Amino acid sequence: MKRYAMMIDGNWEEPASGQWIDSVEPYSGDVFAQIARGDAADADRAVQSAHAAFKNPVWSEMTATARGGLLRKLGDLIERDAQRLADIERSCNGKNITEVLGQVKNVAQWFYYYAGLADKIHGAVVPINKAGVFNYIRYEPLGVVVAITPWNSPLALTSWKIAPALACGNTIVVKPSEYTSPPLLELAALALEAGFPKGVFNVVTGFGNEIGSALIEHKLVAKVAFTGGDQGGQKVAEAAARNFKKVTLELGGKSANIVFADADFDQAIRGAIAGIFGAAGQTCMAGSRLLLERSIHDRFVARMVEVVEAAHIGNPADEQTQVGPIATKAQFQKILDYIEIAKSEGATCVTGGHALTGEQFGQGQFIAPTIFTNTHNAMRICQEEVFGPVLAVMPFDTLEEALEMANDSDFGLAAAVWTTDLHKAIYCSDRLEAGTVWVNNYRATSFTTPFGGYKRSGMGREGGIEGAREYLQAKSVWITTQPNRSNPFVLG
Ligand code: NAD
Repeated sequence: MKRYAMMIDGNWEEPASGQWIDSVEPYSGDVFAQIARGDAADADRAVQSAHAAFKNPVWSEMTATARGGLLRKLGDLIERDAQRLADIERSCNGKNITEVLGQVKNVAQWFYYYAGLADKIHGAVVPINKAGVFNYIRYEPLGVVVAITPWNSPLALTSWKIAPALACGNTIVVKPSEYTSPPLLELAALALEAGFPKGVFNVVTGFGNEIGSALIEHKLVAKVAFTGGDQGGQKVAEAAARNFKKVTLELGGKSANIVFADADFDQAIRGAIAGIFGAAGQTCMAGSRLLLERSIHDRFVARMVEVVEAAHIGNPADEQTQVGPIATKAQFQKILDYIEIAKSEGATCVTGGHALTGEQFGQGQFIAPTIFTNTHNAMRICQEEVFGPVLAVMPFDTLEEALEMANDSDFGLAAAVWTTDLHKAIYCSDRLEAGTVWVNNYRATSFTTPFGGYKRSGMGREGGIEGAREYLQAKSVWITTQPNRSNPFVLG
């Protein structure tokens, strides 16, 4: 069993507490690794190291082209080790190996994209409205960035922060989820191999309310980039407000998947299933509310039931597996609780609605893909994030009714529309209150385009050029080109 220390200032450091946390494989229940239980002392060491590295000319005066070169090298190393990294990540979060391997390969692409962008972040010369001055804008890094991330897709979601932050010249302290830290510690080893200067890329581990809260309160931290639940997000936002830190929040969702009667039926079935049963529903962008035009409601639900009841459920290491286990015991219990809540609120369970036991279900942390009908937006199952394979289906009669139902949510991460009518697709896309709208597809993301939430789903964006801007600050530089002869007591 591997014991992972923390990466601080280019060295593997043991925790000040001397304590370790077990990493448990969700499928088997076996402890396969241990991570350090970091605390405020370790947070301080890591932030001090990142701050010193930010000031060090080795990094601060490195050209953007050279920074891009380091990111490209890291992307190459991720590609080289993709299978190994995917196996480690799958051991932590129980996600299907096919999905994890695809995600890890995509992580390399994130590093390549931001490697290329590093030396294309231009300032601007401003046609200023004053005589005798030359004005230009520089985009500068912020300083020390803290990245705090959840357990569902640790390498991907953290790299969405690491790649742009480093491309823009910041230094970083990563605090992954206590459930899924090993992949990020492996990434730290690869960053060292790629040649990043010491202190530029640090990874500390431990619990959110211990080392996590110490990081977000640290006075040398310029920005916190957080992905997680809205409660943790609120704590980050409060700490940021107290200490004038910049903040990006990627939080939860209750995304609406709207299917009109004119949609390609089979494609929409695939999209509805991908939306809620991909990754066993443990994804922020889950299409957990399915809105069906009434005329297709019964046929659509019947077909979905057929497909999910034939799904391969079992060991995530098996390439045939389509639905794997729930990543943590706490999450498993939370999902079962929501199933009971939905039943008690009067929803009809048409398939699933229970845990799965049996030899193929390992230690038993599995939930049968669950579909509820007879639901409405006032129910908790339609308003609160379950983060599991549980779908609430609601019928609608008119387009306006569908939009009203879709937007009647505190969240606004994503939404999808299924229709063959282009006008309807654009009309809905314009009106849906969500950071991402998919038309005739679901769960597509890319490093080239921004991702983020409206409303309680967060603030700021990740991905694309927009994502890089979150790690930069503008400086306006004024250069006098002619002597100034105006009255010095009057603002010129
Ligand atoms: P979580 O909020 O419990 O934990 C996320 C991270 O925050 C962990 O590293 C945790 O240790 C840390 N943390 C918790 N409390 C903290 C505190 N007080 N101070 C500092 N750090 C703290 O979330 P989770 O259960 O790991 O993940 C599930 C949640 O993440 C879901 O709500 C899901 O929607 C959300 N998520 C959002 C996105 C997105 O891009 N919008 C992507 C994936 C997951």
